[in-house]
Amino acid sequence: MAAARQRMATTVEQYAAGVLGGDRAVLARAITLIESAKGEHARLAQELLQRLLPHTGKAHRIGITGVPGVGKSTLIDRLGMNLVDEGHRVAVLAVDPTSTRSGGSILGDKTRMTRLAQSRAAFIRPSPTSGTLGGVARKTREAMALVEAAGFDVVIVETVGVGQSEVAVAGMVDFFLVLLLAGGGDDLQGIKRGIMEIADMIAITKADGDNVARAKRAAAVYQGALAILGPTSPNWTAPVLTVSAAENRGLAQLWEKITEHKQRMMASGEFKARRGAQAVAWMHDLLQERLLASLEADAAIARRKVELEGEVCAGRRTPALAVEELMGLMHRRQPASAGGSR
Ligand code: GDP
Repeated sequence: MAAARQRMATTVEQYAAGVLGGDRAVLARAITLIESAKGEHARLAQELLQRLLPHTGKAHRIGITGVPGVGKSTLIDRLGMNLVDEGHRVAVLAVDPTSTRSGGSILGDKTRMTRLAQSRAAFIRPSPTSGTLGGVARKTREAMALVEAAGFDVVIVETVGVGQSEVAVAGMVDFFLVLLLAGGGDDLQGIKRGIMEIADMIAITKADGDNVARAKRAAAVYQGALAILGPTSPNWTAPVLTVSAAENRGLAQLWEKITEHKQRMMASGEFKARRGAQAVAWMHDLLQERLLASLEADAAIARRKVELEGEVCAGRRTPALAVEELMGLMHRRQPASAGGSR
């Protein structure tokens, strides 16, 4: 037992030293550890995260969403290279809940960001490919902590916007950017509900060639819609820009806006408050996950839970009473199992 602990401690130290030293191979392996479903890996991963905690939090965290084909990878590739040229170190992570079903990720794929993928100052990691959206989001949050500890000062989290994935990503970043295509006139028609409310900025992509005028018109429509919604904070009204990643136009202004947002949020205290609230939300997610897992771990209680689900579904019992009973079973179980593990 002592020998096993000793071995584990050495391994955590090795991981920590590798990540802090910016060793990309160790960083990649550490993220794999976080994504692993094995209990022993999970324990090691949590120890590593705890150990690295003081070295996290220093990056500027940017979320980017948009439908497939909007130009996410082209924009991240170009913007990422611009940032690398300015001396930044850029990590790109992805939250792609579709990958958990298909087994293949469509986001954050290295082949989609060809220049950035070759840069020593960049690190690209596709979405975890198993788990629920909540699980995928947790793993991405933890991967974010690791890349920060490895010294990446800009972290881009990309999502394709399936289900609630934008909300999950908006909940882990400092700035949330929504990419939209100029449509055929009534641009607001095709937009997903709720997305405008969480956008810190909207960028209309592919504003080049014949598309420039259309992109400008779309920008005016969205700006009008945002004005009706009102500002996202007393110190920030989401701007609408037009960009062309293909021609590298509008990207300098886009980055300027993102840094201006950070300065204003830092000055008003909202930056710190948003991070604090996100950390607490993360804690609640973990707590919920752990409580459910411990309930599922008890075979008798798990069985009773399934029966109660049937009764709730059939309308024979209220959801509240079902929870009441399960909580009662959990409480009765606790002292025995706590005593047994010592
Ligand atoms: P994603 O699916 O959102 O990652 O979109 P991609 O970046 O793969 O882009 C989808 C298609 O749009 C590709 O054929 C790109 O070449 C094209 N595209 C991306 N950005 C631009 C742009 O700024 N201008 C033009 N004209 N085409 C673009």
